[in-house]
Amino acid sequence: MENNIVIVGGGNAGMQVADSLRKGGFDGPIDLLCAEPYLPYQRPPLSKKFLEGKLEEKRLFLRPANFYETKNINLQLSTEAIAIDRQAKVVTTADGGSFPYTKLVFATGARVRRLPGTEGLGLHYIRGIGDVAALKEKLAPAMKIALVGGGFIGLETAATLTTLGHTVTVIEAMDQIMPGLVAPALASYFKQLHESHGTKVIEGVGVDAVATTNSGYTVSLGGGRTLNVDLVIVGIGVIANTELAVDAGLAIERGIRVNEFAQTDDPDIYAVGDCATGMHMRFGAPTRLESVQNAVDQAMVAAKSILGEPTAYDTLPWFWSDQYDHKLQMVGLSRGYDDFVLRGDMAAKKFSICYFKGERLIALDSVNSVADHMAAKRLLAEDTDITKAQCSDSGVPLKAHL
Ligand SMILES: Cc1cc2nc3c(=O)[nH]c(=O)nc-3n(C[C@H](O)[C@H](O)[C@H](O)COP(=O)(O)OP(=O)(O)OC[C@H]3O[C@@H](n4cnc5c(N)ncnc54)[C@H](O)[C@@H]3O)c2cc1C
Repeated sequence: MENNIVIVGGGNAGMQVADSLRKGGFDGPIDLLCAEPYLPYQRPPLSKKFLEGKLEEKRLFLRPANFYETKNINLQLSTEAIAIDRQAKVVTTADGGSFPYTKLVFATGARVRRLPGTEGLGLHYIRGIGDVAALKEKLAPAMKIALVGGGFIGLETAATLTTLGHTVTVIEAMDQIMPGLVAPALASYFKQLHESHGTKVIEGVGVDAVATTNSGYTVSLGGGRTLNVDLVIVGIGVIANTELAVDAGLAIERGIRVNEFAQTDDPDIYAVGDCATGMHMRFGAPTRLESVQNAVDQAMVAAKSILGEPTAYDTLPWFWSDQYDHKLQMVGLSRGYDDFVLRGDMAAKKFSICYFKGERLIALDSVNSVADHMAAKRLLAEDTDITKAQCSDSGVPLKAHL
């Protein structure tokens, strides 16, 4: 039987698998099944330029429509896979279609976590083009907006909406924004940045309830405070889309469990991107990452495995977040750090936080310091010995330590 690859999910990861297979010389059939009605698109601008109205929808698309035709990729939009038969090796879709496979790739991504008890109240979330289109439709000049969740997406959205002239209050249940993601010093720097633009940031207080009023919403916070706002936007994280894999009997660990070759416990099934919990050679522990870097790199790993050239996933994680005129770039994983040093000058809006575990540099978060970010990518990839004193000495470029 001819090799036939079916990819479920047409986000960054799914599109990349298809592209890498063709680039690697695979010339058999590829079906790319996408539940959404849009060409595969990038999500990062959704909370930034797209929400701001500075980027047209067509600029979100990862490739133009004719790319899929030229590459002979059978792109099926508005097509949701609803069942996998591992014995018959067939994917069934909601519209009654069936797609036989020799190799199957899950690239189903993640969906937003909903705020409990608020079904039907019309709260807004930001995950897809449709979400942002719905939000834009509701926006009127100078609204009061509550943003529940002070993670990257919540803060980017807050910055964009504040720039558009709205009055935004960010509510973060943990005791710092970007909790578990950045050092307290960096969180407090970004808190001040948002406050300096007029955004109110409330930390350490959860949302107890949301109720509708005649003209908007009342948000009840822990401790008895209430906020009256026109709109509520929620950004409290995502849940990996694993249901199809669960039903198919595959191993799950917060995401679809894969090895360093992006392969599940069924050797003919792979999982990549936000939906996958992968064995990452660098960390030696199962890790589920939510980033464009991971979606793209893990997709390339899966494609290589399918092409018969298995290459273990060993890429250094990196991420970025744009908030006002601040580009935050992160490389490595800082979790588990026991110390950090500051490099550069916070007052000059150009600095880095260097995270250490023992005497080993494990991650670096840079603010408007592209040179530090680029050098750290190499320092960490090459596991270079660098001391805290060397890191904090901004008079010497980091690349000098390579
Ligand atoms: C607002 C926003 C801003 C972001 N900003 C950044 C950033 O600055 N930097 C960064 O690195 N990352 C950022 N991210 C994260 C990044 O976009 C994701 O990590 C990335 O999109 C993951 O790609 P993916 O292909 O794994 O999943 P997704 O992009 O979620 O794509 C999965 C696709 O699969 C489809 N699907 C699911 N189930 C089925 C099914 N059964 N049948 C068919 N199709 C299905 C879904 O509809 C979806 O279209 C941001 C994300 C958001 C939402």
